[in-house]
Amino acid sequence: MLSIRGRCWLCRQPLRLAAQGICSYCLPPLLATLPCCPRCGLPADPRYICGRCLQRPPPWQRMVFVADYRPPLSQLIQKFKYHHAPELAPTLARLLLLRWLQTRREQYLNNPEIVVAVPLQRKRAWRRGYNQTDLLARPLARWLGCEYRPAALRRVQAATPQQQLAAHQRRRNLLGAFRCEDDLAGRHVVLLDDVVTTGSTVAEIAKLLRQQGVASLQIWCICRTL
Ligand SMILES: [Zn+2]
Ligand SMILES: [Zn+2]
Repeated sequence: MLSIRGRCWLCRQPLRLAAQGICSYCLPPLLATLPCCPRCGLPADPRYICGRCLQRPPPWQRMVFVADYRPPLSQLIQKFKYHHAPELAPTLARLLLLRWLQTRREQYLNNPEIVVAVPLQRKRAWRRGYNQTDLLARPLARWLGCEYRPAALRRVQAATPQQQLAAHQRRRNLLGAFRCEDDLAGRHVVLLDDVVTTGSTVAEIAKLLRQQGVASLQIWCICRTL
């Protein structure tokens, strides 16, 4: 998967608009409608909130994501995160924007006012040279005409990387791991992450934001592991 300017990231055909990153042939399958619960994003009848969410509602209102974590999108994300390809950010952000516009046509959704991003540990962002979620949040907020608050959330303890832990350990690893340093009370907020796996990180931050009294909270991510 080479980065060739002006060509589709997936099939490498020349693009009519270089900024789009993915051609009009590769795009529709990526944005195919997903049979998922609108609230938790897990497989279910997309017209209704699923039984799991009715019994134990997650601490957010909507989960919006481009696709399941599998090729070809998972390959683009791996390239973006681990193979130093920050230039993929606008392409991935655009996919999420298109998914959001599509979802809003089908369901009632609050228009977001503020975008916040799941913070990286400083050491890991430094090693990579960039914070991938920050690179997604900036163009998204600009296109949506909302505010991006890069310093709203902070990680307060150096946690073991989540992917090395089992689900029950993930929850423990996150207790008190975040602080909200901004006043978000009464605002419609989007919490952005690149990949949501068990949902424990976003749930932890969502509880924090709910305590802050946000008016509504949507979780947006490029991929949801189903
Ligand atoms: Zn293509
Ligand atoms: Zn659900």
